[in-house]
Amino acid sequence: MEKISIIVPCYNEETSLPIFYEEITKVSNKLNEIVFEYLFVDDGSKDKTLEILKGLCKKDNRVRYISLSRNFGKEAAMYAGFENSTGDYVAVMDADLQDPPSLLPTMLKVIKEDGYDCVATRRVTRKGEPVIRNLFARLFYKIINKISKTDIVDGARDYRLMKRKMVDSILSMKEYNRFSKGIFGWVGFNTKWIEYENIERIAGETKWSFWKLFLYSVEGITAFSTAPLVLASIFGILFIFISIIVIIFIIVKTLVLGDPTNGWPSLVCIVFFVGGIQLFSTGIIGQYLSKTYLETKNRPIYIVKETEKDNE
Ligand code: UDP
Ligand code: MG
Repeated sequence: MEKISIIVPCYNEETSLPIFYEEITKVSNKLNEIVFEYLFVDDGSKDKTLEILKGLCKKDNRVRYISLSRNFGKEAAMYAGFENSTGDYVAVMDADLQDPPSLLPTMLKVIKEDGYDCVATRRVTRKGEPVIRNLFARLFYKIINKISKTDIVDGARDYRLMKRKMVDSILSMKEYNRFSKGIFGWVGFNTKWIEYENIERIAGETKWSFWKLFLYSVEGITAFSTAPLVLASIFGILFIFISIIVIIFIIVKTLVLGDPTNGWPSLVCIVFFVGGIQLFSTGIIGQYLSKTYLETKNRPIYIVKETEKDNE
């Protein structure tokens, strides 16, 4: 019989986990043509998440868990899940039920019957989220899709069901700075998109502050586009042109009108403006340099503290 692995990254999810377990069990009990494996990845939670996982593992042999040595972030947790999953099909799902398990049978059907390699989900609304955050999210997707060759879908969630070969190709991308929305697009394969309305988290609270999201978007841009580096050169060329025109203008003006000493306020403005552009450009280069620096260190993406096998 075929097997499906459900990967659930969990960071401080003690309140949502029992509800999630109940929901996913309802779904898997109905699907008896396939064997289920729930692979929970405890991403260094500071609450009772691990204890709850241990409890679930004792009473249900479909449950497996990996506990990471500290909080590595959802990207690393997902990678850990992919690497340790054994199913022919692999799904990633949030623990807060924002990714409805009830969609799973439909997704499985699409893969098995319609010949897709992957079924992904995107939310068409962002109902229940702050307006400003919404606005910036939209802007981010507009920009990144202009400057990156990789297709990064607006509103795409990480919730998706994939065939083994797609998971293996994701695993072959061992980069340290992981931006999954880009990685999923980069590896290709036939993907069917399922749309649904945003669902608010069932319990607990989101781990994403506005600042964290902003940093994540910078990560996404540096990971999947080098356009900002070109921007720095464009600024440079633009400024050389402007300065040539201004130099000619000043020479002509001096020859015609003599040389009255004024214009220092405009000079100060120009110095500040150009200085700003230069720092901005250096900052862009710094971003790429720092990412390269971290990649060359070749650190592991995650470190395992314990798994269910340690308790056997
Ligand atoms: N998560 C994680 N590590 C982190 C942050 C989040 O494993 O450092 C998990 C979290 O437990 C949840 C999923 O990633 O299952 C999505 O997190 P969250 O609901 O906070 O994000 P949102 O849905 O608001 O984008
Ligand atoms: Mg959530």
